Amino acid sequence: MGVPLFDTATPLEPLRDDLREAVLGVLDRGTYILGPEVAAFEDEWARALGVRHAVGVANGTEAITIALRALGAGPGDEVVVPSFTFYASAEAIPPTGARPVFCDVDPETFCVTPESVRAALTARTKAVVAVDLFGNVPDIAGIRALGVPVVEDAAQAAGSTFRGAAAGSLGDVASFSFFPSKNLACFGDGGAVCTHDDRLAETVRMLRFHGSRDRVSYEEVGYNSRLDELQAAVLRVLLPSLGGWAEARRAAACAYAEAGLGELVRLPRAVAGAEPAWHLYVIRHPRPDELAAALAERGIESKAYYRTPVHRQPAMVAYAGGVELPGTEEAARTHLALPMGPHVGAREAAEVVAAVRAGAL
Ligand SMILES: *Cc1c(COP(=O)(O)O)cnc(C)c1O
Repeated sequence: MGVPLFDTATPLEPLRDDLREAVLGVLDRGTYILGPEVAAFEDEWARALGVRHAVGVANGTEAITIALRALGAGPGDEVVVPSFTFYASAEAIPPTGARPVFCDVDPETFCVTPESVRAALTARTKAVVAVDLFGNVPDIAGIRALGVPVVEDAAQAAGSTFRGAAAGSLGDVASFSFFPSKNLACFGDGGAVCTHDDRLAETVRMLRFHGSRDRVSYEEVGYNSRLDELQAAVLRVLLPSLGGWAEARRAAACAYAEAGLGELVRLPRAVAGAEPAWHLYVIRHPRPDELAAALAERGIESKAYYRTPVHRQPAMVAYAGGVELPGTEEAARTHLALPMGPHVGAREAAEVVAAVRAGAL
């Protein structure tokens, strides 16, 4: 039969009529930038996360840059970031003027830890970008206890929780991406910055609109970085389904475990306290590329996302210096994402596990 890595279309089938109505509603209104749909989505997303403010921005990369700017990051500052993450987590730092300093991850969870962050702190550290990688959630309270502000990069963690609190509510400020493959996704680019802090939220609103609060006076060199009305209208239709999709992702992880996947490969471990809505289900194996080839023969899609970690990417080498990150190297060498999403039920999980059993030598 075969199982795809993602299925972003099928979960939207029951919502097609509502989506058509929402999009046509925007057309009828004729307001496309910073109108009522963005304002309503910001309220609904903030309420869903249990934060005071959500501010729509153009994408998840600029969400990080703007969050760091709001925290005051600039030239001469350092921002600690893991190397085992999507490139954008680090790429978002230099546009602020600060430089990225790479820290390690625990290869069992793929997340930073208070210890790995502490090892990268210096007198110049302005903030930490803590990534909720693959939907897992690091111990952000433990990192904040080091005395440094945290930007929670929650791009992969819509629907995840940590001791009952939503991912995206845990840092001083958090960033989301609504890129089409994410757990909560729109039909193009979109993002949000979330915070409990009134003053930070006001600064983010100013920065996303060219550094202006009143559209007359321009107090900062800011950004043209807004969530579109059309994308906000789409997100408002999808948001009520997020909880069910997150449950389906957790159920898929359980189905993999129940089908015996843990006897064949290393399963991802949730950080103590985290209830991940797995964005990607990433296992470890000593020969992951051979395993991927064997799975492909049986129609099972899989993917190595970060085989070259960020600190060894050409554009980042100058920042990385000679840093050694053994947990990152281990994760980069051995990881492989298996199919994950609401499309993975017990039957699909059993098919994937049978293919792993046949292919994992
Ligand atoms: C997707 C992603 C981003 C960037 O989001 P865009 O909307 O594509 O700019 C940042 N960090 C992580 C961890 C991501 O997965």
